[in-house]
Amino acid sequence: MSLARTFDQVARTDSTFERRGGLWVGKCLICNGPIAFDAQTGEGATLEHIRARSRGGTDDPRNLALVHASCNHEKGRRWDPRRRRSQLDYDAFIDCLLQRRLDRWRDAPPPGTPPPPNR
Ligand SMILES: [Zn+2]
Repeated sequence: MSLARTFDQVARTDSTFERRGGLWVGKCLICNGPIAFDAQTGEGATLEHIRARSRGGTDDPRNLALVHASCNHEKGRRWDPRRRRSQLDYDAFIDCLLQRRLDRWRDAPPPGTPPPPNR
């Protein structure tokens, strides 16, 4: 699956996202701020594994989120063992993000279905 296709899949299953012309517009999972990306290329957002693959996270869409590059970077910094964040804090943060992803979940239409109409 191409990266842009994965972006599309994540946006389809996140109820904060809607199609506006060639863009998907929604909310960053980490900061809840507005985020938009090109539906063809994914440009404008980065794909986040909420639970890192190195920590047992999978490519399941429930573990994937669309976030700002800066938020992705900040999350990476939190994980940096040189920072004094405790493992417990980090786990709580991950659990919070996973829950937020589920709270936003919507079932995606089958592949090949046109994107939701513009509102
Ligand atoms: Zn963000």
